[in-house]
Amino acid sequence: MTDLSGMNRSGDLRAGEPVMLTDRKKRRYLIDLVDGGEFHSHSGVLPHDEMIGNPEGETYRSSRGMVFIAVRPTITDFILKMPRGAQVVYPKDVGPILIIADIFPGARVLESGLGSGALSTGLLRAGAEITGYEIRDDFEQGARDNVGRFLGQAALEQYQTQVRDVYEGIDETDLDRIVLDLPEPWQVVPHAEKALRRGGIFVAYSPSIIQVSQLHEAMEGSPFGMAETVEVLQRGWHVQGTAVRPDHRMVAHTGFLTHARLLAE
Ligand code: SAH
Repeated sequence: MTDLSGMNRSGDLRAGEPVMLTDRKKRRYLIDLVDGGEFHSHSGVLPHDEMIGNPEGETYRSSRGMVFIAVRPTITDFILKMPRGAQVVYPKDVGPILIIADIFPGARVLESGLGSGALSTGLLRAGAEITGYEIRDDFEQGARDNVGRFLGQAALEQYQTQVRDVYEGIDETDLDRIVLDLPEPWQVVPHAEKALRRGGIFVAYSPSIIQVSQLHEAMEGSPFGMAETVEVLQRGWHVQGTAVRPDHRMVAHTGFLTHARLLAE
């Protein structure tokens, strides 16, 4: 049985699914398969119908002789290629956030802001039920579009989004987790105290260390404790024959991850 939802696609490629094409130069293209559709690039045309009904990993040749391999995108591929409004949380940070926030199936999570929905996609995939606050309506819509495209429309039922300012308060109570990616996470601390359940986890992703210290300061006079901050460095390696060494370039900085737990008053 093939799974038609976006959560666990398998079997032959079907119309309506996102697919990633990779060429010999490792250039990657994210497309959505459509009956009768065509992929156009500088190297000619590749009809979608050639791919629909085939398994992943097959090789195709465009009208001008360029060779492409077609596979379903992973969440990493998708985040790196999906349309972006705001800066996304990179896959190297999405993974650790899921573990640091201890996301589990059915976890009640408040996420803010939503941006392009990269982090949302990771949280939903791990089984979270998200209430999302996003101050910009265009970003709210963009995040929903990206989530639905990768995870399927059914996933949107677990993604209740609202256009609103999280600094003004949180309506939900008894939340398991609060996950933030916005400029002033310390403004959310007083609301988070009321919205989280005891033992609940607060995680904030912040690019600047000044934001981190301001957040720690705000938590010092609060019922939050066990606060820690980490950063995640990922270094790729070049492995080819006897040339085995770290890549010359790496993404040296994205953001710091600060997490704390709601303890007794
Ligand atoms: N984590 C997202 C990127 C978020 S970018 C991703 O992975 O794609 C930060 C977002 O926070 C922006 O969309 C911005 O509009 C939103 N934002 C900023 N301040 C906010 C506030 N006070 N309340 C809600 N959203 C806010």
